[in-house]
Amino acid sequence: MSLLSLKGVESFYGASQALFGVDLSVEDGEVVALMGRNGMGKTTTISSILGMVKPRGGSINFAGKEIVGQQPHRIAQQGIGLVPEGRRCFPNLTVEENLLVAARGSDWTLARVTELFPRLGERLGQYANTLSGGEQQMLAIGRALMTNPRLLILDEATEGLAPVIRQDIWAALRKLKAAGQSILVVDKTLSELLPVADRCFVLEKGVTVFEGKPDALTAELQDRYLGV
Ligand code: ATP
Repeated sequence: MSLLSLKGVESFYGASQALFGVDLSVEDGEVVALMGRNGMGKTTTISSILGMVKPRGGSINFAGKEIVGQQPHRIAQQGIGLVPEGRRCFPNLTVEENLLVAARGSDWTLARVTELFPRLGERLGQYANTLSGGEQQMLAIGRALMTNPRLLILDEATEGLAPVIRQDIWAALRKLKAAGQSILVVDKTLSELLPVADRCFVLEKGVTVFEGKPDALTAELQDRYLGV
């Protein structure tokens, strides 16, 4: 059974329908890329998984349980760690406090997060609002990991960051993958995303139009669905 499985998910903002039938799955230990042009429904899919948008149709199964209709905090507690767009941290807490308040379970510790992101280790006593954008992103990923998620979800984690910091984030994702972490990732940098992904799903106008391995996403399909 898949760790995460979405079937025919339909979601709305008020009367306006954004998802018309999203199918998606993540197996244990897999890195899955969720792709599509702007406005095609990637963030809405993630919000639907987390219960922040309530689907009105279809099903979402996580770790063997139907989660549609559950409250967002209950869904997160079952083992989904989100790194949202915009890298939210507590601005007036230090790096160390930000990490410790997120801690749940014992697998991920302060030591393990700072081994993954040494820059955070050098700044444990610094307030989060004094970090650079890239460091805040690392902190957001660290916070999600401290919850010991069975599934880590990253929404545009490298957007707007300096190239050297992006490289650090991609290197961290490769290490997480090697450690067997299941990951669902949205990102526009195909040259980094495709080599790390085990499978890809592409959305167009709120519908899944492609599922397959990265090498099946040919230049023609990339052009058709992603406009690259
Ligand atoms: P992007 O790459 O630009 O973030 P996306 O693929 O994540 O795009 P979504 O943000 O999920 O796309 O948007 C899907 C559709 O839902 C779009 O038509 C968008 O305008 C609409 N939408 C998104 N958020 C809201 C909202 N809060 N209220 C109303 N409509 C929304």
